[in-house]
Parts: sequence; C-alpha cells; structure tokens
Amino acid sequence: MRLSNLQLTPQFVQAVRDAVDVYEIAAGHTRLQRAGRKWKGLCPLHKEKTPSFQVDPELGFFKCFGCGEGGDAIKLHMLLTGDDFAGAMEALAQRFGVPLPAPAAAHRGGRAKSETDLDPEQVLEAAAAWYREQLARSETARRYLERRQIPAALAEQFGLGYAPEGWRHLIQALAGKVPLGDLLAVGLAARPEGGGEPYDRFRHRLIFPIRNGAGRLVGFGGRTLGDDLAKYVNTAETERFHKGQLLYGFDLAKRAIRESRRALLVEGYVDLLGARAAGIEDCVASMGTALTPEQARLLARYADEVVLGYDGDPAGETACRRALPILLGQGLAVRRARLPEGEDPDSLRLKEGAPALRAAVDQAQDFVQTEIDRVVPGDVHRNPHGRSRAGKEIIDLLKAVPDAILRYGYARMAAERLGVPLHLLTPRLELGEGVLRQSLRPPAVPEGASGPVTPGRRGEEEALRLLLLAADRGEGLPPAAELPPAEAFFDPDLRKFFEAFRTLYLAGAVPRLRDVLGAVADLPGADGKAAQLLVESEDSPGAPPLGDALRSLSRRWMRHRLRELHSLISEAQRRGDAADLEALLAEKNAVSAGLHPTAPNARTTGAE
Ligand SMILES: [Zn+2]
Repeated sequence: MRLSNLQLTPQFVQAVRDAVDVYEIAAGHTRLQRAGRKWKGLCPLHKEKTPSFQVDPELGFFKCFGCGEGGDAIKLHMLLTGDDFAGAMEALAQRFGVPLPAPAAAHRGGRAKSETDLDPEQVLEAAAAWYREQLARSETARRYLERRQIPAALAEQFGLGYAPEGWRHLIQALAGKVPLGDLLAVGLAARPEGGGEPYDRFRHRLIFPIRNGAGRLVGFGGRTLGDDLAKYVNTAETERFHKGQLLYGFDLAKRAIRESRRALLVEGYVDLLGARAAGIEDCVASMGTALTPEQARLLARYADEVVLGYDGDPAGETACRRALPILLGQGLAVRRARLPEGEDPDSLRLKEGAPALRAAVDQAQDFVQTEIDRVVPGDVHRNPHGRSRAGKEIIDLLKAVPDAILRYGYARMAAERLGVPLHLLTPRLELGEGVLRQSLRPPAVPEGASGPVTPGRRGEEEALRLLLLAADRGEGLPPAAELPPAEAFFDPDLRKFFEAFRTLYLAGAVPRLRDVLGAVADLPGADGKAAQLLVESEDSPGAPPLGDALRSLSRRWMRHRLRELHSLISEAQRRGDAADLEALLAEKNAVSAGLHPTAPNARTTGAE
C-alpha cells in the first residue's frame, strides 16, 4: 500500500536522511540548552519537569531518558507530527530543500495520458473544493447537519461537501479544469451501461472526503439526503482507495490515539462525526465494511486498546464478535461500549447528550470477559453438553490472543466460570498456537541455536537464572524497560520463561519464581526446568554479572535481527511496499542505535 504520491526511491530516502537536522526539528518543539556537544531540554514527547531529552546533532540522534523514545530525525518528526513514513519523507524533503521525485507512474492507474497533467489526487481535490462550495449553498444539506448537531467547524475540519441533485453538475462545473476522462477514472463520473452521456456519480448526497493516514485524499463517501435506496455510496476502489486498508478519520485522530493509547472504533462517517462532536478525538470509522487485519494493524501502531462503538443491535453485535479476534490478533486489548438497544453512537448522543456517549465509551467493558460470560450458559453446572460446547467456543476465542500470559489469565477466568479445571482448556489452546504464530513475527532461531547445549543456549540459561535469582532476592534487577526483548532468547522454552518474567515485571511487580511458574503453567515440564535452572546456579563459578549476561544476549539478538532486517528491507523495496518499508527502516534504525549507541549509523545505513 502506498500512502503518499511520492515514489520512495532509496536515493530519495537517502537524500532526505542526509539533509534533515535533528536539532532543528527538536528545537521547533522544545527549548534546548547546550550540554557539551549535545543539547538538552524538556521532552516534547512526554510531560516532564526536569529535562531528560537529549539531542546529538553531530550524530543525528535524539534520546529521551524519561519516556525512552529515541532515534533519528525522521523518527522524531514522525512522533511529533503523527506523519507516517511517506508523509514524513515528503514534509521533511520540503522543509530541508530536497527536490521531490516525480509521482510514481503507477499512480496514474494505467490510464492513457490525459491532455492535462493532473494526478488522481488533484482531480479528487478539485472535486472536493467544489463539493464544499455546494455545501455552503445548500439549505437542505446545512439543515441536515444542524439536525444532526454537527458543528460547522467540525464539518469544515473534515471538509464535508454536498453533491446537488441533478445528473451533470460536477461534470459541467469542472469542465475546462478537469478532463472528463479523469473524472471517469477516479470514479466521480460514470457512463450509463450501453453508452450515452456520462453522469455524476454523487447526486443529492452529503460528501465525506476520505483521506489516508498521511492526510492524502484518496476517495469519497456520499450519504443520501433523499430516499435513495443506497444510503451510502463510495467512489470506486482504486489503487489508492482500498476501504479495507483505510480508516475514516485516522489522519485527524492519530495524534490523539497516540496520546491516549486508545482508539474508539465506530462503523460509519456520521458516527465518527458524532463522536468528535461529543469531544472524543481518538475515534476512527471502518466505513461500513467488516474490520480487516490491515485496519487492525494500523490501529495497533498507535493504540494499546480499542473500544468498539458499534450499533446496539444484532448486526452490531455480530460485527463486534467478528472484529474481536482480528483486534486481539494484533495484540490489542478490546473493550466494547454498551449502547442501549437500537442506538448507535450518534443517536445516543442526540437523544441523551454528549456525556452519555462519553460515559458509554469510558465504561466500556473488557470484551473477552463479557464474551466468556455470554458463552457460558447460566445452567452450565447441570448441562454437560452445553458446557462442552461453551468450552469449545471459548478455546476458539482464546486462540486469537497472542500474548501467552494474557491468554492464561482469560483461560483461568473461563475455567472458573465453566467449572472445569484449567488444564482442560490450556492444552487445546496450545494446539491452536500454530495458527497464531502466522500472525506473529517468525521466531528468530538461527541455525545451531536450538541444538542441545550450544554456547548461545548456555548464555540464555545463565541470564535467566541470574534474573530469577535477583528477583527472588529482590536486589540487583535492572529496570524493566532495560530488559532485552523476548526474541533475544532463541530457545523457545527459555524464551517463554523470560517472556513471562518480563511481562510481569513490566506490569509493575517484581516477579517471584512462583508467579513466573504460574504464568508458564501451560509449558510442559515448566517446574522441572525452573528447578534445574536454580539448582545449577548453586555451583556455577565465574558466572558473569546479570547486566553483562543480558547485554550480551541483547547484542546477539540485535545482530541477528539486523541481518534479518537487511533482507526484509530489500524485499519490501522490491515490492514497493512503503508501509512495510517504513516500519522496517524505523526498526532497523532503532536496532542499529541500540547496537552502536555512539556511532553515526542510522544516518547512513537506512536505505542502502
Ligand atoms: Zn520523553
């Protein structure tokens, strides 16, 4: 999926990397004071009272020791503005004077070159401007917005427009500016079947411009203001307009989502405007289609949890249940706002006021938990078949949860409610892991690492043992944020132990051995493994200090991951997948920065 019109050639990306100045970007958002060769200031990315944000213009890096964010100038720009990679490239190129490459040829959609030189976005923008003018002129459209209590400022912010009644208004209004062929190509005009005069696709409709995450106009949605049977109509799916990859309102919500780490997900344009009108800014809409994994992935880049704000009717109920595994699969927590029977978010606001909608969102309940309650029948204790069916349904539901500890937590809840021992649920869950893994990063196991006792595995055991000992003694533990990622452990069992430890530690507790064991209870032979680790520790002279052991694992993993990233990056470049490329380059920068904290690597290694 391309997010921007720009063709992100490696040369262009490199030119931008060379031109940007991290100091200048930072200085636009916080006051910096010199401290040796670096500059210090209050972090613009989190609230703080003492400066822990540092910029090193020479190396082109920033680092905040408060919130832990760090990286190069492009990353800083992306964090400050919410731009995606393609958007950042364009904005930074303009700001630092890098000439923009020509728009990618593919964006012309393969159509014949037209007499003027408009790209599809320019065609859409021309139409958007005209629709906006018509909204100002249309009594009907304005009355509709008033009735829905959508403030004029909001309509303006979202660029709402109106397509008047009649068949050729847009075509005529843009004649001379936009060739008819271009209007047909972007789906704003259509030809009758069997030939004849082309006509406007949108007639007597409220128009919603649809922008991608970078704020580029990619299409329109139209809601009828008459009694057209098709309540909503969209422009045709094109190369840049895939409803399944877009979220309506995302470009205007992503900053709020990043701050709250939450996103309210609603079904349609009007619901979204209603939520915004009620003061809920971290809201996006899935445009009436079933939620896709791509949309969930987009949300997961900014949010930790999603609140579903779907209609309070059976169709909404079904849509919620379909969305649940997709969201869980991206590692998102999912809550569901309970709307009164027959209400959608917007109708609730209109009937009971903005506070009622905000309360429904804030008090939304954990959706997995409520699903468990729903699935397990009240008479389960007297109904063996019902219990078995419910058990199967719950196992299907829990399979979607990628985090082992979270899955364990839910499984315990379900087992209790079902009145069955936990082990009746968990082995079947583990069987489901094969499916799950596909959605996760492939496990990073280099050749030789899974052998009996390689030096690598030895190091992993050592690190884990020292970690568990330090935790049980309650001293000498590094801060949770400094622990290596779980992938640093190549041995799957040891990784599971470490992951359990790390998750508990990140949640704020110093994990005791029994907590860790509880969390890996579904791992065969977990107790024995732990005992072995700890017994061995009694006589292991010359063990490195814990910090060194962890650091050497981290560094081994980073080197391994960098090798993987190199091939993933060239593959993404070959595919021309800008979204993937963005994420991979960002990760590569972060990993290089971790591996060579004082070397000027990320500036030069980004796009070779
Ligand atoms: Zn910070």
